[in-house]
Amino acid sequence: MEAQRLGLEAHGSDINPVAVLITKALIEIPPKFANFTPVNPDSRKNSLKTKIWYGVQGLAEDVRYYGQWMREQAFKQIGHLYPKVNLSQESGDAKATVIAWLWARTVKCPNPACGCQMPLVRSFELSSKKGKEGWIEPTINHSQQPPVVSFQVKSGKGKAPEPPKTGRGAKFDCLACKQPVDDKHIKAEGVAGRMNTQLLAIVAEGKNSRAYLQPIQKHEDIAHSAQPSWISHCSDS
Ligand SMILES: [Zn+2]
Repeated sequence: MEAQRLGLEAHGSDINPVAVLITKALIEIPPKFANFTPVNPDSRKNSLKTKIWYGVQGLAEDVRYYGQWMREQAFKQIGHLYPKVNLSQESGDAKATVIAWLWARTVKCPNPACGCQMPLVRSFELSSKKGKEGWIEPTINHSQQPPVVSFQVKSGKGKAPEPPKTGRGAKFDCLACKQPVDDKHIKAEGVAGRMNTQLLAIVAEGKNSRAYLQPIQKHEDIAHSAQPSWISHCSDS
């Protein structure tokens, strides 16, 4: 960029394709469209005759126009998979955009007396920021067979409960019966396609900060109902 600024010819290389892409977008492509008028229909209609487009103004206008168009197309196709949430009154009671859905993977506890879907969680902490502490508190309903684990989001005074002792690698203790479960079982369940997911918490865009919300069944159902229209073929090699 410095070379370009001084009017010099520049050459560069990088084995990282991301760096190459960014540099192309920054250095190589814009000069090719320098002083071009935009081609999008809105700009053509409005200001083609009168406005003079300097530098990359025209290109920038097109990037904005078609970027917005792509955003709308994406929303039409997959927007229904990203429901908004209602924040509590103190957060303004508005519909908020979800930034993240926090999930735990689960496997069936091998203890025959238990058999719950045990969440594999290493930490229940959501935010350790002073004055904005938030955490997840698991509750276990033992009156059901197998026991059912659910999650509550807490904030204020207090701290995140320690997850049951976990070892190195994929070793977890069952939240319900406390039995240690070794990584062989967890791996075997995963390989057999029996690993599930459970929503831990929802992170939404609050008024001035992030808002943490309880899992919402509807959100969990929507996520589980989503079917990709294509499947990528990955391998471990
Ligand atoms: Zn168990």
